[in-house]
Amino acid sequence: MNKNVIVIGGGPAGLEASAQLQNMGYNVILVERTHELGGHLAKWDRLFPDGVPAKSVLDSLLANIGGVKYFLGTEVQSVNLLEKSYNVILSNGITILANAVLIASGFDLFPAEKKEEYGYGIYDHVITNADLESFFASRKDKQAVPDPRIPLQPQKIGFVHCVGSRDEKIGNRHCSKVCCATAVKQACEIKEEFPQADVYCFYMDLRMFGRNYEDLYLKAQKDYGIRFIRGRVSEVAEDIDKKLVVKAEDTLSGKPVKVTLDLLVLMAGMKNSGAGQQVGSMISLETAEDGFFSCRDSVYSLQKSNKNGIFFAGACTGPKTLPDTLHEARAAALTVHNYMKNFE
Ligand code: SF4
Repeated sequence: MNKNVIVIGGGPAGLEASAQLQNMGYNVILVERTHELGGHLAKWDRLFPDGVPAKSVLDSLLANIGGVKYFLGTEVQSVNLLEKSYNVILSNGITILANAVLIASGFDLFPAEKKEEYGYGIYDHVITNADLESFFASRKDKQAVPDPRIPLQPQKIGFVHCVGSRDEKIGNRHCSKVCCATAVKQACEIKEEFPQADVYCFYMDLRMFGRNYEDLYLKAQKDYGIRFIRGRVSEVAEDIDKKLVVKAEDTLSGKPVKVTLDLLVLMAGMKNSGAGQQVGSMISLETAEDGFFSCRDSVYSLQKSNKNGIFFAGACTGPKTLPDTLHEARAAALTVHNYMKNFE
């Protein structure tokens, strides 16, 4: 067809959309600013609800992009509308005239150090969900250096939900959607790793909305003995033995809770990718109050932006599970395909 589509972002949404568009006969140019494809998926170990290895999903996505031209370590420097096409200049000096631009820039994890009261980057044994996933992934690598923040034999481990999400104080009211299920999955996995440990989850609401997620939650309680405490952690302090003293209020019993832990895992939520926002500002894409890109409407045109010829796929328009991201990438490819009829 000789019609160009540039896909910005080489995570799951960008990979799946690229594969679909290529199958439809378009010249697809995929641009990824880091030096590897796969986004957060490439750093994840296993996926909820049933523990599928992230690598197997990524390998399938990569196997489908055979004919897609991609540039790694490359950023978008400018995007300008020329009649009905976009002139896109890349940091590697290449200029592409694209009939459509698909933004699949994904999300950044909320920087947990911004919630100072939880002590990330301050206390020795506070880590994030992403750090814990790296730990899980590194167990297969004999050369990997162990994370010194994770004790060898922790006796008590806590998870804090909603870090950087549903938090008026930091201006993020949105729910990041996937971190409840991730916390439950990780709580079970860490219990498998350290069977002697007591594991606590401090949550506000448990949002286990997907198929089989509720089963995972029940299994976590019945088979793994994970203790769920409904209440927001108010304070974390480190004692003289480097243990973490965590205070919260159990809002079900109305009683204050104080637990001394060896390891605390913060469930950092999602925010719109900073790199994606930079590209968005080049084209004046609208963002909503939650910082994610605004879709043309919230029911029928989720893949369309406020600009003709610019489309979205994946978590750049809000937190999504991986299956939702992949479905949306396919929908985005179809939406681009319909738009291309303008060029016939
Ligand atoms: S999914 Fe759960 S942990 Fe994540 S922001 Fe929503 S309620 Fe909080």
